[in-house]
Amino acid sequence: MASRSVCNGLRMLLNTTQCLRRGFSTSKSCASAGYSFDLTPEQLEYQELARKFTADEIIPNAAHHDRTGEYPSEIIKKAWDLGLVNTHIPQEYNGLGLGALDSCVITEQFAYGCTGVQVAIEANSLGEMPVIVAGTDAQKKKYLGRMTEQPLMCAYGVTEPGCGSDVAGIKTRAVKKGDEWILNGEKMWITNGGVANWYFVLARTAEDPKASAGSAFTGFIVEAEWPGVTQGRKEINMGQRASNTAGITFEDVRIPAENMLGKEGSGFKIAMAAFDRTRPPVAAGAVGLATRALDEATKYSLERKTFGTPICNHQAVAFMLADMAIGVESAKLITRRSAWEVDQGRKNTYLASIAKAYASDVANKCATDAVQVFGGAGFNSEYPVEKLMRDAKIFQIYEGTAQVQRLIVSRDLIGRAAAGQLNNN
Ligand SMILES: Cc1cc2nc3c(=O)[nH]c(=O)nc-3n(C[C@H](O)[C@H](O)[C@H](O)COP(=O)(O)OP(=O)(O)OC[C@H]3O[C@@H](n4cnc5c(N)ncnc54)[C@H](O)[C@@H]3O)c2cc1C
Repeated sequence: MASRSVCNGLRMLLNTTQCLRRGFSTSKSCASAGYSFDLTPEQLEYQELARKFTADEIIPNAAHHDRTGEYPSEIIKKAWDLGLVNTHIPQEYNGLGLGALDSCVITEQFAYGCTGVQVAIEANSLGEMPVIVAGTDAQKKKYLGRMTEQPLMCAYGVTEPGCGSDVAGIKTRAVKKGDEWILNGEKMWITNGGVANWYFVLARTAEDPKASAGSAFTGFIVEAEWPGVTQGRKEINMGQRASNTAGITFEDVRIPAENMLGKEGSGFKIAMAAFDRTRPPVAAGAVGLATRALDEATKYSLERKTFGTPICNHQAVAFMLADMAIGVESAKLITRRSAWEVDQGRKNTYLASIAKAYASDVANKCATDAVQVFGGAGFNSEYPVEKLMRDAKIFQIYEGTAQVQRLIVSRDLIGRAAAGQLNNN
């Protein structure tokens, strides 16, 4: 069976180190003793495995997938063989049960190589997270278990042609009929939408048009093969072109009652709860991209000479590099902190939004500045940094735009201020 082949790479690493939980308990004990910025020995090993995989498999093939838009199935299959895909599926469902911080450490490395490939892999986490958060034992066994047996993809279907930020405006509708739900509607801009084996789908189930978001929507697991499900064509995007973005239409799709996630009406909460765990890895993707931009710009600044000296000796260039480094280091810290918080079982919505917003902005600034450091060569597709600039933009849009993250942060802040709980603690 394919899952047996997952015997080297990450799984073996986990077996030999007993279990990742030990890693967490290490960080927990560090936490109780104060701050620790060290990764655990296990996390350092995951990082090294992902770094090597990125160097061997992602970086050499990134330009090809960017140019052709070809889905990187081979790379994903190899990553899956090493246990580097679906890392957070709990051990009781044959997964590795890694935490959000572990995922971030791995994601930073993949993103350093190509955020298109990284996002294709990471979209599985987004699709699976509602099942992890709210699925029954049977649902987890069936749909998470399946992902550990074959290198399959899944997807998170919330956005529609008519609404993205305003999730409460979605029109896809599921109506109860006997033991089934009948699903009709359309989803748009779904990562892995054209290659997924199954979807998390958020649909309106309340009849009352005035029902609150907290009661009007229900989450479902919908299989791509079911009659009435049509996967759209791959969209041609500005960047992250290795990843597959597609629409999906649902026409009288019959969903068995056992595929409803959580309680009827709880879908909005489930969809949002998934983000607490997936926004840190999205931020980690942005950190990986920013790090690559910094490295490429630094290398180039040592090689390129103007006015008789390497351009790094011009203070204007050196300061640009310094600002990039300041962004990378601070974005990495807040990203890892936001992941670590959720691994401790604490609510991290506020920090996850700060990390996602900040790291996305840093990625865009670093990629733009890297193009500047490269001069004319930065604008050319033979050099690595124009791809980084195209790839960076989407970090400010998907999984909640830059503005939506600021809405979340400001609402939290204002709410705490109103309750007399400001930040000085
Ligand atoms: C490549 C790609 C992959 C994606 N993958 C997925 C996926 O896997 N699953 C999924 O469900 N969706 C996915 N999306 C959709 C993505 O999450 C949405 O595009 C995003 O949430 C924004 O929604 P929208 O495009 O409808 O923009 P809109 O919501 O129409 O927003 C337009 C602009 O208005 C701003 N805005 C909107 N409301 C406010 C407000 N209240 N205050 C301030 N500013 C506001 C926004 O920030 C934005 O700048 C993906 C999108 C892309 C492009």
